[in-house]
Amino acid sequence: MKRDYYEVLGISRDANDNEIKKAYRKLAMEFHPDRNPGNKEAEEKFKEASEAYEVLKDAQKRQRYDRFGHQDAGAGHGGFSGGFDFDLSDALRTFMSEGFFGDFFGGSSRSRGPRQQRGADLQLRLKLTLEEIATGVEKKLKLKRYVRCDECDGSGAQRGTSTITCPYCKGAGEIRQASRSIFGQFVNITTCSHCGGQGQIVAEPCVVCNGDGRVKGERSINVKIPAGVTTGNYISLEGEGHAGPKGGPTGDAIILIEEQEHDLFERHGDDILYHLYVNFSQVALGDQVDVPTLTNKAKLTIPPGTQSGKILRMKGKGIPHLNGYHVGDQLVSVHVWTPSKLSEKEKKLLQELAVCEGLQPPKGDKSFFQKVKDAFI
Ligand SMILES: [Zn+2]
Ligand SMILES: [Zn+2]
Repeated sequence: MKRDYYEVLGISRDANDNEIKKAYRKLAMEFHPDRNPGNKEAEEKFKEASEAYEVLKDAQKRQRYDRFGHQDAGAGHGGFSGGFDFDLSDALRTFMSEGFFGDFFGGSSRSRGPRQQRGADLQLRLKLTLEEIATGVEKKLKLKRYVRCDECDGSGAQRGTSTITCPYCKGAGEIRQASRSIFGQFVNITTCSHCGGQGQIVAEPCVVCNGDGRVKGERSINVKIPAGVTTGNYISLEGEGHAGPKGGPTGDAIILIEEQEHDLFERHGDDILYHLYVNFSQVALGDQVDVPTLTNKAKLTIPPGTQSGKILRMKGKGIPHLNGYHVGDQLVSVHVWTPSKLSEKEKKLLQELAVCEGLQPPKGDKSFFQKVKDAFI
C-alpha cells in the first residue's frame, strides 16, 4: 500500500511550497543512497519522499492528488502517473534538480547538464609522536597528485584545436529515450557513453597529457595538526586532492593520523602512563625524583610509605583533549626494583633489615590490604 504523500513528508495538508521543500530536503539528505550504501530501507524511503515531493511541489498535480489520491493514474491527462514507475533514477533526478546536490557535498550547487568528473581524493598517512600530539604540530607534506595540464589548460585538446560538441548527445551529456507504457510516456535518461557525460569530445588530444587534461605533479603544503588527535582521526583538505580529468573539479586530500608507539609512555585516552622504578629505601623513606614528561621533565614527590604498584598522578601533564579545554594527567606507576646482584656488604645490610620488626608486612589484616589495593587503581 502506498502511504499518503503528506504523511510521507510529515507535513499538514495545507503546507505551503516552502514547507514542502524543506520537509523533502530533510528526508532526502537523510536517506540519500550515497549516505546509506546498500541500505534498501533507506533507498525505499528516499524514493517514497522524492515521489511525494514530485507530486506535491507541482500545484496541478497536487490538486489532482488532493481530489483523487493515488487512484489517479493520470495517463493521457498529462498528470502524474501514480508513481508506478517512479524508480531510483527518477528519485535521484528529483533530488539533483532541486540543487540539493551541492549542499550534500558541502560545495556549491551543481548545475544540470554536462557532468564533469571530479578528481579522486588523495589519502595519506601521517605518523605523529606522542610529543607532537601533546603540543599540536605543523607539518610540511609533499603531495604527489594529478594537476591540471598547463599545455591545454585542462581541456585535453591539443593547443590550437578545440573540443567539439559530442555528436551523439549534442552536448547534453545524456541520452534521452522516450518509451510508452500503459501509464503514459516515460523518458529514460542515461549518461552518454560516447563522451562519458561531458558533452564534449576532444578532436585532437593534447600531446602532453594524452587528452586527459592533467599530468602528474607534486605540491608541498603545510598542515596544522591540533593537539589531542589520535590514531584514526583524519583531516580533510578541500581541493588538495587529484585534479579531475578534462578540467573537472579537484578532489580532497585526506590525512589519516597514526600515533607512533612511545618508548616511555603509554597513552590512555588523554592520560599517559609512565612506569617508575625505585629502590626500597625511596618508597620507605619518601623521595623526590625527576620524571620525564611529554614536554620536558618534572619533579615528583614519592610520599614515605608508598606501596609498590601505587599510581601517582601528575595533574595536567598529559594530552589536551581534542578541541576541548581539559588536559589529561601523567600517571606514574611506582615499582620497587628488586636487585639481583648484591655485594657482600649489601647482603649483610639486607640481612640486618630482614629481621627488623618494622619491616614486616601486617599479618591477616584484610582491611589494610584492601586499602593498598584501592590505591593502585
Ligand atoms: Zn594537456
Ligand atoms: Zn555525448
